[in-house]
Order: sequence, then C-alpha cells, then structure tokens
Amino acid sequence: MASALLIGSDEVFEVRKIFCIGRNYADHAKEMNAAVPEAPIFFLKPTTAIIGNGGTILKPAISNDLHHEVEMTVLIGRGGKHIQKGDALNHVAGYGIGLDMTLRDVQSEAKKKGLPWTLAKGFDTSAPLSPFVPASQIQDPHNLGVRLDVNGVTKQSSNTKNFIFRIEDLISYISQFVTFESGDVIYTGTPDGVAQTGPGDNLEAQLLSPANTVLASLNVKVQ
Ligand code: MG
Repeated sequence: MASALLIGSDEVFEVRKIFCIGRNYADHAKEMNAAVPEAPIFFLKPTTAIIGNGGTILKPAISNDLHHEVEMTVLIGRGGKHIQKGDALNHVAGYGIGLDMTLRDVQSEAKKKGLPWTLAKGFDTSAPLSPFVPASQIQDPHNLGVRLDVNGVTKQSSNTKNFIFRIEDLISYISQFVTFESGDVIYTGTPDGVAQTGPGDNLEAQLLSPANTVLASLNVKVQ
C-alpha cells in the first residue's frame, strides 16, 4: 500500500490512482517539439511506482535514457464525478512535489509506434512523491515555485503560474471521465529542463512559496 502524508497532520491517505498530466507548460511542449494541447492530456501510473523521501530510483535495464520531470503534485481529499471548476479546489487536501521519472527512449519508441506509455512511465520507483502541505496553508496554488536540483545544480525551475491548464481545469476535465477518490494524486506536468539522470545522482525537488521558502521537499537517489 502506498500512502500519502499531510505535513503536520496524523491523517494518512491510501493512494488510489496516480494521474499524470502531459504538456502543461508551453516551454516543455516546445522542448519536446510537441504541440500545446487543446485539452489536458493525462495518463496513469500504478501506485506501486511510488517511492518516498529518501528512496532510490531503479532504472530498468531496458532503457538507456532515464529522464527526470519535476512536477507539482495535488492530493485529492474528497472524491467526485463531474466536478465543477468552481468547486474543484475544495476537493484538494494538499499540494506537494514529485518526479515523473521517464524512460525517454522507451517513450519515444512507443510514440512512434502508437503504443501506450505504461512501461516508459509506470515502472517501479517511477513516482517519487513528497509529503503534502495541507491545502488550507496555501493561499494561491498557482503561484508556487517548482524546482529540481541534481547533485546541487538547479536543472528545472519554474512556477505554477505558467501552467497551461490550471488545477481546477484538470480536476474538472478528468472527473468527466474518471471518478476521483480520496487519496488520488495528480502529477501536474513538468516545466522545461528535463534531462538524463543516472546512477549516483542525487535529486532534490522542492515546492516553494512566493517568498521562496520550502513548502515541501523530496530527496531521492538514482541507482
Ligand atoms: Mg510528466
């Protein structure tokens, strides 16, 4: 069982589903030579992909191109179907930071052949996940810094104000098709700066307040 933790609370959420958004920052769509989507693109990872703070990412031998994608994460506290945009943020229990680890070579091959991304995106340890800051402590989830340092060097840095689709858009859209349950997690898409990472690398991801204080952080290693 994979659990999601709320910082400063005893409440533990059993993670049910992991939704990941593709292309939610224009600068990342550009670096992938991909069009900016007209509606959110989403896919799922299995909950067995989750590792927590201090965990180790294990690259499957099938790939020679493991990439990091740092992403703000959203923990759903209250489930629902056909959630209205105006009510969507009331379904959020907390905000955190995560890594959508990707086997880029396997994904490129899948894209070419029109095959699913499940292997490229859903392998064990592909979803490092921080504890979540309670939503009540976040004034504006669309003004938070998202940063990844690899071995102490900043590789990805952006702000959630640069989202193509806001959190209420994502929740409302997905809930038309898939019912949200308490404990579901959304990885909200990565900014530009995705790159290869390999054995021995130390990945430190942070969610930052407008004043640049660390709200949630995640430290994992690649083996
Ligand atoms: Mg991603």
